[in-house]
Amino acid sequence: MSIIDGKQIAKDLRQSIKSQVDNLNRAPGLAVILVGDDPASAVYVRNKDNACKEVGFYSEKIDKPADITQEELLSEIKRLNTDDRIDGILVQLPLPNHLDTNLVIETISPEKDVDGFHSENIGKLMQNKPYLRPCTPKGVMTMLATIGVDIVGKDCVVVGASNIVGRPMAMELLNAGATVTICHSRTQDLPGKLKLADIVVVAVGIPQMIKGEWIKDGAIVIDVGINRLDSGKLVGDVDFESTKDIASWITPVPGGVGPMTIATLLENTLSSCKEKI
Ligand code: NDP
Repeated sequence: MSIIDGKQIAKDLRQSIKSQVDNLNRAPGLAVILVGDDPASAVYVRNKDNACKEVGFYSEKIDKPADITQEELLSEIKRLNTDDRIDGILVQLPLPNHLDTNLVIETISPEKDVDGFHSENIGKLMQNKPYLRPCTPKGVMTMLATIGVDIVGKDCVVVGASNIVGRPMAMELLNAGATVTICHSRTQDLPGKLKLADIVVVAVGIPQMIKGEWIKDGAIVIDVGINRLDSGKLVGDVDFESTKDIASWITPVPGGVGPMTIATLLENTLSSCKEKI
């Protein structure tokens, strides 16, 4: 078994982004909007802001109260849509219940939608004409490329079908030439399906649910899940201990997919900036 060192791959990606930024005539700009004071969201936003600083981006961290009205939030996004310093706009999810998440995402200009969640960008990914691609699945593809996997013709199983991870992940693998099965909460015989997979990507949100005995010998296992146990320990959706000696490659949690998501957000912001200058 070999560990896919997401921390190192993300560090190399940030280094490459930084050296490209040094050669641009202006810094790429990212605006991150945080609504309310959810502690986990605040940590994610702070990490994004720090990552921007590290690679020499211009960054705006915009804090809004939890009771912001829909109109106020949309007008903030519209302002950023026309701000020439800003190449990427990200609204940290989840939003408070009184706000329409879908409308918020659709209000972000598709050219600045560095999360890749706008229906126009998802549509382009579906058509295999991608523009801005969702960060977590794109980051997984970078990891697979880094370890030198030839994806063409591989049998892949994606567990989880969310709009932000599972579905775009399946599209990424399909676009790369794989045969893809998408599993979800109503899938029958998940272990049987996993047993046929050369590459498994799991994004469910249930700690350690995927067991090593369900995995084919030598498969590549990518664990997107991030779960905090009562003990405070962070674990993935894959039972690492029982899987590590069966998989040929496996991502750890933490230090796997997580760091790739933020590095890919920077990569998307850089490419959005390059489109404009
Ligand atoms: P969602 O809750 O939006 O989606 C979970 C998916 O898992 C759904 O499609 C659901 O099925 C499916 N599911 C639930 N129970 C089962 C089950 N028993 N068997 C098979 N499938 C099941 O989660 P997200 O996609 O947003 O996130 C998933 C995990 O990834 C979380 O742990 C999250 O923290 C982590 N994450 C990590 C990121 C990173 O950067 N590393 C980024 C984003 C998320 P159904 O559709 O039928 O409801």
